[in-house]
Amino acid sequence: MRNNRKTFLPFSKPCIGKDEIKAITECLSSGWITAGPGTARFESAFAKYVGTTFALSLTSGTAALDLGLTSLNLKPGDEVITPSLTWLSGPNMIVLKRAKPVFVDVNVNTRNIDIEQVEKAISPRTKAIIPVHFAGQPCDLDPLLNICKKHGIALIEDAAHAAGCEYKKRKIGSIGDLAIFSFHPIKNLTTAEGGMVTTRNEQLAARIKLLRWHGVNKDPWKRNKGIGTARYDTIEPGWKYNFTDLQASLGLVQLNKLNKMNEQRRRLAMHYQKLLSDTEGIALPKEVTYPHKHSWHLYTVLVETEKIGITRDDFMEHLKARNVGTGLHFLAVHKQSFYQKNFPVKLPNTEYISERIMSLPLFPDMTEHDVVYVVEAIKDVIKEYGRRN
Ligand SMILES: *Cc1c(COP(=O)(O)O)cnc(C)c1O
Repeated sequence: MRNNRKTFLPFSKPCIGKDEIKAITECLSSGWITAGPGTARFESAFAKYVGTTFALSLTSGTAALDLGLTSLNLKPGDEVITPSLTWLSGPNMIVLKRAKPVFVDVNVNTRNIDIEQVEKAISPRTKAIIPVHFAGQPCDLDPLLNICKKHGIALIEDAAHAAGCEYKKRKIGSIGDLAIFSFHPIKNLTTAEGGMVTTRNEQLAARIKLLRWHGVNKDPWKRNKGIGTARYDTIEPGWKYNFTDLQASLGLVQLNKLNKMNEQRRRLAMHYQKLLSDTEGIALPKEVTYPHKHSWHLYTVLVETEKIGITRDDFMEHLKARNVGTGLHFLAVHKQSFYQKNFPVKLPNTEYISERIMSLPLFPDMTEHDVVYVVEAIKDVIKEYGRRN
């Protein structure tokens, strides 16, 4: 292999340019930095982009899941179906409502929730399904919507990976009862931290809007402008989950270039697919067969330990020694201490993936040379440490 890179290639890096810096500087000078006119502009632009009626910004994707689940009025013992191959946010928020996460296995190739397993997991206590559009590839929503309709349960899409993703020509965020997005720095669109709920349901939107600011029916920006009175009224106790105009100023710039950033992600991912196609011991992600647009939030491969005799964890260390960063999406939630103790279950595909998956560097400002370097590093690791047949 050629000389080691001089600098570390991270697995992700936010794509921040002059326009974001200009926008945030203007917001800082404007005299209003928390939720206000900028936030309202970002919300309408986001709703328009995904093609839905309401977009409500929040402090994080986790907060979005929290209020999304709250708006469904879960009772203790109610069940919510979720994959275990996900970030902890969904399961944690379910448990914190005293509801029960019902973990369902995923498809090995797409890593999305297995619809047949979902159907089998439905019970009279099921209140919602939270599919995750893993790595930015849409779940098969039509059969999921049918299941929800048949049983009268809600579909909350975890779209944290899916900004710009499409299912059968429709943008993710315009389909389920609720969809939640995350604007954490590793996501396709970032506002440093932040999240969004989208919905067409006016009642759910109104409830979430109320709950994100103390449960109070008052708009502080209007008060600042001298519109309305100083009185406020608590309709029900709520949270303090509002966005800020500082975040919105970043979000508006990022939303404008989202399609371009996703296109660059796709090009890099295709380059990986090509260069890694016949690498013994590395299983590549497969695309679904129904019409879709992948947002390529992550490019994940499986380290086939039984073929090459290297564990995923060791593989990641060897890549790090070659200045290549990797990510781990995800360790199975049901194998984490708390969940193993309280909600034990066996999920063969999820367990298989969880011990073999790694995310390779993928971000818009990366180059095809970087991809070539990563691929060479992978082949070098296999040559040096792999089992010799
Ligand atoms: C990032 C992520 C979240 C949570 O988003 P935050 O903004 O970090 O709270 C939820 N679900 C999935 C699948 C994620 O990747």
